[in-house]
Parts: sequence; structure tokens; C-alpha cells
Amino acid sequence: MTKKILAFIDHFHGKAQPSSWEGLGLAVKMAADNGGEAAALILGDNLQDLANQAFQYGAGQVFTAENPALKDFRPEIMADMIKIAVEQFQPDVMIFPTTSRGRILAGMSAVDLDTGVMVDVTDLTWEGGKISATRPIYAGKLLAKLQCSTSPQIITLRTRAFDKPEPDDSKSGSATPLDVKIDPSSEMTTVLDHQEKSSGVSLNDANVIVSGGRGVALNPNLEPPGDLDEEAAEIWKAKQGFALVQELADVLGAAVGASRASVDAGYIEYEHQVGQTGKVVSPDLYIACGVSGAIQHLAGMRNSKVIVAINKDPDAPIFNFARFGLVGDMHEILPPLTAELKTYLAG
Ligand SMILES: Cc1cc2nc3c(=O)[nH]c(=O)nc-3n(C[C@H](O)[C@H](O)[C@H](O)COP(=O)(O)OP(=O)(O)OC[C@H]3O[C@@H](n4cnc5c(N)ncnc54)[C@H](O)[C@@H]3O)c2cc1C
Repeated sequence: MTKKILAFIDHFHGKAQPSSWEGLGLAVKMAADNGGEAAALILGDNLQDLANQAFQYGAGQVFTAENPALKDFRPEIMADMIKIAVEQFQPDVMIFPTTSRGRILAGMSAVDLDTGVMVDVTDLTWEGGKISATRPIYAGKLLAKLQCSTSPQIITLRTRAFDKPEPDDSKSGSATPLDVKIDPSSEMTTVLDHQEKSSGVSLNDANVIVSGGRGVALNPNLEPPGDLDEEAAEIWKAKQGFALVQELADVLGAAVGASRASVDAGYIEYEHQVGQTGKVVSPDLYIACGVSGAIQHLAGMRNSKVIVAINKDPDAPIFNFARFGLVGDMHEILPPLTAELKTYLAG
């Protein structure tokens, strides 16, 4: 029997989360390897552009549920629409990106469809109709193998664990609209619909991340203005330190990350936090500046392909995970490193 994979495309007001295309790319690859069919499912309003993109990313079929009520995130209605799409397409596997919306809907769908969900998957094989999925557990110290004995097998993919395919502009198709049923009693008004506006590159999708830890505020050669109290002086010093981190990030086209210590101390906003209680990232290059490498920070970045650590303590745990290490004061190392890279990349 033909194997079918349905990929959920998460988007915010028509702009897809890049990890959605990673999920669709995986679905297309699984279908090609197993003689199956890959379809995309998109919920929202005005979905023509997204549907076209889904065809370009390789979907053989695109299901859409279009309705002004679905413009904002409406989990109950959306879970109902997913159920309808599953009844119509009968997928063996359903893939969600590990975004906030993807996680919520994957869980709700698993309950609605009386099946299991394998979350935060970083690798998988598919043999004899059964997925064997891998996910890091215990802050990334162990890799668990998961299987789901019910159908459809639902998985959420860790962002950037799977390749994003190249879209093919020559591909097109007609979307299959689903019959949107909205129970009037479920009507609700969206009071606030807000997406965090990170300045610059988004942490989740970044190829390169430059992170700052508590060391950003520890520049022994910097004298804050005399009228600041101790706490304000520390923040002032941290801002100067993060400016160095930002300059390097700008040169590399990178996102800025941070440890929880930096966030808790008020040096930078929570949206930059990497780790167990922050974002889990897996960029090609992660440069940790003044970060000690606590287990909870490692939980968010140890899957980075190349880790570079800059720390003045040669025994800092981060060096055990770094491919390259620079022992020294980050405030002295970063300016010439940034200048050197700027010249190198310009030439
Ligand atoms: C339940 C729980 C959840 C947590 N979740 C997270 C999380 O999501 N993310 C996270 O990051 N942490 C998390 N933590 C906190 C974590 O345990 C650490 O406290 C935190 O990661 C430490 O941050 P840091 O490395 O910036 O600071 P520190 O551990 O204080 O390290 C600062 C480092 O900077 C170096 N340094 C100092 N001055 C300089 C200089 N001038 N130049 C270069 N290096 C310098 C020091 O040698 C040191 O290694 C969590 C903790 C708990 C209990």
C-alpha cells in the first residue's frame, strides 16, 4: 500500500516558519525513498502564496483550510481541521515543525486521533512502515529511540535537524480546499496576536549564532560613568560587552544568543536565551563568549555543528564541547577578531 506523509506548514499571517519547509522536505524525501506520497496541510486565510510555495518545495498535494476565522491561531478549530485532513488523506505519518503552534497542534491531534506523538526528533529511519525516531533527552546527554505503535505516527522535528530543500519555481499545482466547519459556539475574539520581533536574524533559523554569557559584563578595563549605582553600572558594562557580540554577529550575518545568567541579570531580553529553558538551536557555527557551559546552556546548543568558545578560564566546561577554544578576555579578543573577519569576508 502506498505510504503517505502529511506535513503541517506553520506560518504567521502567511509567512511560513522555515522549519515547516524542513518538515515538508523530509516528507518528500521519505515519499521518494519509499514510493509514497507527500502532501502539505496549510490552515489560515489567503493561502494561495503559501500553497504555491508548498508545491515548489515538492508537495504532491496541498490541502488548505481557508477562513478569516483561521487568520489568527485558533487551536481548537485548527485541530478539527487537521482531523478532517487526516480523514481525507489517510497519512501513515504526520510531520509538524517544533514551533510553539506546531507543538500544540501535534499534541492536540495525537489526542483527537488516538495516537502517539514523538517530539523534538533529530533523526529517523522508516522501515516496514514503522518510524524509528531519535530525540535527545536529559539535556542532550542521551539519545532516546522512539517508536509509535498507532497510526498515524505523529512527529515534531527539531528545527534545523533536517535539511531545508531548495524550492523549484517550475513546480505548481492546485490546492485541495477542505470544507471548513466552524461551530459558532466556539467563536472567540483575538485580543492580542503578537510575534516577538527579534532585532536582526532569528535565533531559530540562524546558521551562525554569537552568544554572550555573564562574561560580557566582566571587563576589568572598563570604567562605567561615576553617577551609576552598582546594578546600573553592571548593566552598562554588559551593554558594552553585548555591543561587541552584536558587531561580530553583524559581520557574520549571525543571530545573537545569550545565557540565562545574562537574561536574568537584565543584560538582554529573554527571546535571546539559549538552553533548557530558552531556545534549542543547532546552527552550523556557535560562538560562545563569556559563557561557562552549564549543562542547562549546553542543552540548547550542544548539537551545533561547530562550537567556538571564548573564555578567560581555561577550565571552563564549555571547552570540553568546543571544536575551537580561545582562552582570554572576550573584550580584548572580539574587536580584532571582528575586524579581521570583516576584512576577510569583504575580500
Ligand atoms: C532549571 C534551570 C534551568 C536553566 N536554564 C538555563 C538555560 O536555558 N540557559 C542557560 O544558559 N542557563 C540556564 N540555567 C542556568 C545555568 O545553570 C547557568 O547558571 C548559566 O548558564 C550560567 O550562565 P553563564 O555561563 O553566562 O554564567 P557563568 O556560569 O557565571 O559563567 C560566566 C563565564 O564567563 C567567563 N568570563 C568572565 N569574564 C570573562 C571575560 N572577560 N572574557 C571571557 N570570559 C569571561 C567565566 O570564566 C565564566 O566561565 C538554568 C538553571 C536551572 C537551575
